[in-house]
Amino acid sequence: MDAETVDLLVIGGGMAGLSAAARVAAEGGTVVLVEKAERTGGSARFAGFVWTAPTFEEMRRVNPDGDPDLAAALVDGFDDGVAWIRSLGVECRPPVPVLGFGRGHQVDTNHYLDACERLLRDRGQEVLTATWTRALLTENGRVTGADCLLPDGSARRIEATWTLLATGGFQGDPELRAAHVHPQAADIALRANPHSRGDGLALGRTAGAAFGGKDAGFYGHLMPAGVSLADPARFVDLALYYSEHALLFDTTGERFVDETLGDHLSTMALLERPEARGLLVADARVHREWISASYVAGIPGVDKFQLCHRAGARAAVADSLEDFASMPEEWGYPGAVIRDRIEEYNAAAGTNDTLTPGRRHDRLPLDEPPFYVVEAAPAITFAFGGLLIDSAGHVLSDATKSPVPGLLAAGADAGGLYRRAYAGGLAPALVFGLAAARTALTETPAAVVG
Ligand SMILES: Cc1cc2nc3c(=O)[nH]c(=O)nc-3n(C[C@H](O)[C@H](O)[C@H](O)COP(=O)(O)OP(=O)(O)OC[C@H]3O[C@@H](n4cnc5c(N)ncnc54)[C@H](O)[C@@H]3O)c2cc1C
Repeated sequence: MDAETVDLLVIGGGMAGLSAAARVAAEGGTVVLVEKAERTGGSARFAGFVWTAPTFEEMRRVNPDGDPDLAAALVDGFDDGVAWIRSLGVECRPPVPVLGFGRGHQVDTNHYLDACERLLRDRGQEVLTATWTRALLTENGRVTGADCLLPDGSARRIEATWTLLATGGFQGDPELRAAHVHPQAADIALRANPHSRGDGLALGRTAGAAFGGKDAGFYGHLMPAGVSLADPARFVDLALYYSEHALLFDTTGERFVDETLGDHLSTMALLERPEARGLLVADARVHREWISASYVAGIPGVDKFQLCHRAGARAAVADSLEDFASMPEEWGYPGAVIRDRIEEYNAAAGTNDTLTPGRRHDRLPLDEPPFYVVEAAPAITFAFGGLLIDSAGHVLSDATKSPVPGLLAAGADAGGLYRRAYAGGLAPALVFGLAAARTALTETPAAVVG
């Protein structure tokens, strides 16, 4: 490689890519960061809490089928990641509980992402926005950079000792969602930046990388069915986090999941039900205590039912359970069956003995009228499947399961960490981004034999 070879080429300038690039630059290394969008930041610009499970044991409890080495690396690297964010002058607020088992810090992610980019520019490192990566460069099986297309239409060959894939996953591509998440996932709403469409996965596959985590599930939330999410402000405003305290019925009128385990888990379960839509039913107590209340400490509450209604969602207030029997036919739900199920639930509430599925947490009855009904559908933020990596960020070869020389991946481009469970998206992007930076600063890519 020649004198213009940089230590690290980063493809994708979101949480993982900017973290890796800035860390390498801060340590005196050379970097080029290539971002497809007009602006860096990706989905991380919409996120606010850097969090994960506080211990390896807790991570294994909630995510028993994920890769244990990656789980350990995430938990072990979390504090260093937070310290790194703070080292850039970005506030990480005191720790708060997240999703019942996790712990994390509210962070101004926009401040952090901009601080990373500023650090790169201040150190004379290049940030190329609106730039496409056409192909990885390879030399005897080793990845040596990429061939890119600049916004003016000119080509640029960027040679690098290490190349990091950090394009944020494939959730923006309906066909990849159908192939790797669930056939019905082709039609679900996207609750993430629109640019993460599997480019990292495709580039990695050309270099022989392994894909892991088919059917591993995805992180997302229930959103009002059929409502456009084109305005990113809706990603949070319309998310039906309160489903953990409500009842969720599919189009046959059946409950099918323990709603109390988490909205993100109900979201995955709903994707597998007929037509991937369901009715979320709450009562006046749930409306008071959860629908209009704050979801995580520090975020003010808003009346989500009102917001959904105003956004044009299929939503209604029923004065009594009897009203369910006269649910509009075009909604396509057996209203009388749902009424009966709610009455059965209320009779069994508190005991859990006769409930199927059971309720591990909130077992209070839904018996305080009026009843708030919203039609919900799953929306995806990122899939858990992706390029297989080890804890140092090396991408693993499909053929040998050993590192593909010169190639790294982090963030939602990487798979294997979670299987049908979720413990944070920013934290893995941060921790494995920093791990990739360490690898780029300390290792020489292995020579390829043969
Ligand atoms: C509304 C919302 C709220 C969230 N809240 C939280 C939260 O509070 N806590 C949490 O832990 N997680 C949260 N997340 C998830 C978190 O944002 C992601 O897990 C995290 O940003 C993933 O980091 P990443 O670097 O892999 O992807 P991103 O941050 O999305 O960055 C990927 C980047 O790659 C770019 N890109 C795509 N293709 C190419 C290409 N071919 N070439 C160059 N660049 C490319 C994209 O434009 C983007 O800039 C939230 C997500 C959303 C949408």
